[in-house]
Amino acid sequence: MRIEIKEKQTVDVIIKSYDICDKCEAKIETTWDDAFECTFEHRTGYRCSGGGSGEIKTIELCQNCTIAAFLLLEQNGYKAHNSEWDY
Ligand SMILES: [Zn+2]
Repeated sequence: MRIEIKEKQTVDVIIKSYDICDKCEAKIETTWDDAFECTFEHRTGYRCSGGGSGEIKTIELCQNCTIAAFLLLEQNGYKAHNSEWDY
């Protein structure tokens, strides 16, 4: 005969998740058909044939801060490259 000893445990369960802007801390709101995404990513480290390792620094922005960031960057000589996506 197998004896099972039980106890009540409290477990935190994620019921909702969302991203916040790393500049203004506003909730980044999108609808299911909105493809908005703005993440600046800086990757450092090394690569080898089987993988690699390093660090990734990211900044995720809301719609308003994205517009402001691109304006600020372009005014300071950074060149944004436009392309289209379709899949
Ligand atoms: Zn923001």
